[in-house]
Amino acid sequence: MINRIIDQLKKSRKVLVVSHANPDGDAIGALLATGLALKSMQKDVCMYNESPIPAVYRFLPSVRMIGQEVDAIESYDTILVLDCGSIERVGDLAPKIKNGKTIINIDHHVTNTQFGDLQLIDPDACATAEIIYRLIKRLGLKFDCPIATAIYTGILTDTGSFRFSSTNQKAFAICADMIENGANPYEVAQHVYGHYSLGRIKLLNLALDSLEISPNGKISIMALTQDMMDMTRTQEEDIDGIINYARRIEDVKVAALIHEVAGGGRARRQYHVSLRSDGDINVALIAAQFGGGGHANAAGFSVEATLSDLKNKIVELSETTPGLCEMN
Ligand code: 5GP
Ligand code: MN
Repeated sequence: MINRIIDQLKKSRKVLVVSHANPDGDAIGALLATGLALKSMQKDVCMYNESPIPAVYRFLPSVRMIGQEVDAIESYDTILVLDCGSIERVGDLAPKIKNGKTIINIDHHVTNTQFGDLQLIDPDACATAEIIYRLIKRLGLKFDCPIATAIYTGILTDTGSFRFSSTNQKAFAICADMIENGANPYEVAQHVYGHYSLGRIKLLNLALDSLEISPNGKISIMALTQDMMDMTRTQEEDIDGIINYARRIEDVKVAALIHEVAGGGRARRQYHVSLRSDGDINVALIAAQFGGGGHANAAGFSVEATLSDLKNKIVELSETTPGLCEMN
């Protein structure tokens, strides 16, 4: 399949590269590395993400090339969709993209729906950036400093700073190669993890205060409302990482962070739920039951509900999911 993707890219003149809305380090790193690599092949490249770039990733060289506008979809010979388990993850542009000429789906989520005309899906890859690294190598292109920094950042963030079970020899080998090509680990870490706005710390305080534990002690739940976000003047990007506090609690097997999505209705509001687990419990399967997806240890879904119903549903999981329902 990689050869067909390479042929398709070589014969394309105009290429659109997109990744998922509310992007994380991998969605941005993979997008930027791919876009810059295609530019070095003299392609007419448009890099698109629906959401603004989170502040912590704005240091990435050439990140300003990622925009929120695209030309007419028919004008692109190829559309590359990166780090998206389903095409809907792109956001409002998804229905248009579906009508694109040739769609290439590059991803590492186990729940990937196999959308598109050509797929390069590897659930064993620690990040989509790892797959992009391999693609750039196969294309015979150079890793310059901006590309190397983008790939390094994707792997650093998607492995939870080399702590998740996806962290392996390959991840370190690629990162070593990226450092040789100009990525600066200290600089990246300073930007991504070094400083938090005061609002973000206050939001963390509210999240910790909202913490609830299911009766059997196996599920922890935190909830953030739009009022809390308004009060602390924070945005979606500031929620990133907060769930890890809920996951680290002793005996907790699954952590859930519910956050209210802006612009919801009145009684039933729109919520996004992030799920994290350590070890054996596959939260991608749980998220799939709610129409979402992700990885075995990190998944999510969106629902319209009332907050109390949603919390109850999550607690019910602790009574029905194997590995969670047994006491002790
Ligand atoms: P997060 O909880 O940080 O939003 O996402 C954790 C993981 O689950 C990410 O890999 C993300 O791609 C995936 N994920 C989150 N929300 C959804 C969703 O609504 N649908 C699908 N398919 N995957 C999701
Ligand atoms: Mn990813």
